[in-house]
Amino acid sequence: MLEQSPPHAEQGYSGCDSASTPVAPRFHLLLINPYELGRQPFALAEASAWLKRAGCAVHCLDLALQKLDPELLATADAVAIYLGMHTATRIAMEALPRIRQLAPKAQLAAFGLYAPMNADLLRASGVGAIFGGESEPDLVDWANALRTNQGVPLHQATIVRHDKIEFLPPDRSDLPQLERYAHLVLPDGSTRVAGFVDSTRGCKHVCRHCPVVPVYEGKFRVVPVEVVLGDIAQQIAAGARHISFGDHDFFNGPTHALHVVRALHERWPEVTYDATIKIQHLIDHAALLPELRRSNCLFIIAAVESVDDHVLGYLAKNHTRADFYRAVELMRAAGIALAPTWVAFHPWTTLEAYLDLLKSLVDLQLVQAVPPIQLSIRLLVPAGSKLLELPGFGDLIGPFDAKLLGYPWRNPDARVDALQAEIQHYVMQAEQANAPRQEVFAAIWRMAHAALGLPAPALDGRELGTAVPHMSEPWYCCAEPTEAQLQSF
Ligand code: SF4
Repeated sequence: MLEQSPPHAEQGYSGCDSASTPVAPRFHLLLINPYELGRQPFALAEASAWLKRAGCAVHCLDLALQKLDPELLATADAVAIYLGMHTATRIAMEALPRIRQLAPKAQLAAFGLYAPMNADLLRASGVGAIFGGESEPDLVDWANALRTNQGVPLHQATIVRHDKIEFLPPDRSDLPQLERYAHLVLPDGSTRVAGFVDSTRGCKHVCRHCPVVPVYEGKFRVVPVEVVLGDIAQQIAAGARHISFGDHDFFNGPTHALHVVRALHERWPEVTYDATIKIQHLIDHAALLPELRRSNCLFIIAAVESVDDHVLGYLAKNHTRADFYRAVELMRAAGIALAPTWVAFHPWTTLEAYLDLLKSLVDLQLVQAVPPIQLSIRLLVPAGSKLLELPGFGDLIGPFDAKLLGYPWRNPDARVDALQAEIQHYVMQAEQANAPRQEVFAAIWRMAHAALGLPAPALDGRELGTAVPHMSEPWYCCAEPTEAQLQSF
């Protein structure tokens, strides 16, 4: 059950260095990020800024690039783990026994989208405090409570905050160097160091399969332009030549987005950027696309998910197949690459529908714009998913599986699940071998036709489209983790 915390004052929040709640000087708090798509995590940097301002000695560990450090954990009075996505939560569940072993005196907290959804499982693994939404003030309260009560786990509630909070300049000083994270890959194969910035949190939409919705319930919060620009400045100083906006949807607040990119381009005219924008927003705000291009937007990621209008209706995506085709035209006219993402396999997928998805990518010459892993992704149904409210959906899934952190499902046609497993296995190997996207697509094309007993028509070069700029990290938030990721810590 989620609870709302009592609202804090937006400004003037007193923190653990206030006169009324004095704190000892060396309270060691370790922030852990299990995984965030190869990005240097804003969530850790923002939490770090709040906790340092409150007088805590903060250290960060990013398990995407670092191992659990026995020395840091042994001296930690508290450990807070950021769970922004499914893969991160699966890794955290695997890592928690080791964290508890290495940090025997530390109280544990979890924060981020997936923390409230998995509160019961996290508690069973020794996590006391669970924070969702705008959680920085609660992290400070928690640190305060631990400091002043010397080990008493004051917070045992699950707290989800939606109210506006103050955003501080994120403190990235304790995170691994930017150049070790995912970088921009240009069509000619050259690369650029990328910075990672959030200009909003949450989302004003309520797509049924989306993990943002159970926590933010159609709300989003804006990071002030000057804070965003300060964060960009520190990452450009650290070597970034491209900025990847991590907002769930950059056009939830289009005026805010324009303010940010105008200022970005004015100060750093050579710096490029990318963002995620939904199909509906690309159409509704098509007039803004030329300005994005002029300000050096290289590509836009759009969660299209399906080209089947029935499925798009089940997911409440608020766009149709025709809208997707329209958005492709608009983006081409504006000169910005579109990178569509997909939930290719779900209980409604048929072999014919899967082939139709592949054909639409060929028709639209988008083959090279889609990371192949996208064509193997299975629908995730986490605890609290709004899909569970869709009439009849309960009949398609099994009971909640604590190991998977979700509701398992099988396609009614066993051939579909077999095809998904075959494609996923192949794509994993192809990613490791760094196989070109068009080559991987051609193999998937043949597998999908073979599953239907059809000969696969030859693909010519034009149908495969052209290479587009993209990030070097091919993984996606709705993919299941690999065994290697689960043991990464
Ligand atoms: S899928 Fe995208 S647009 Fe829909 S609720 Fe989630 S973040 Fe918002």
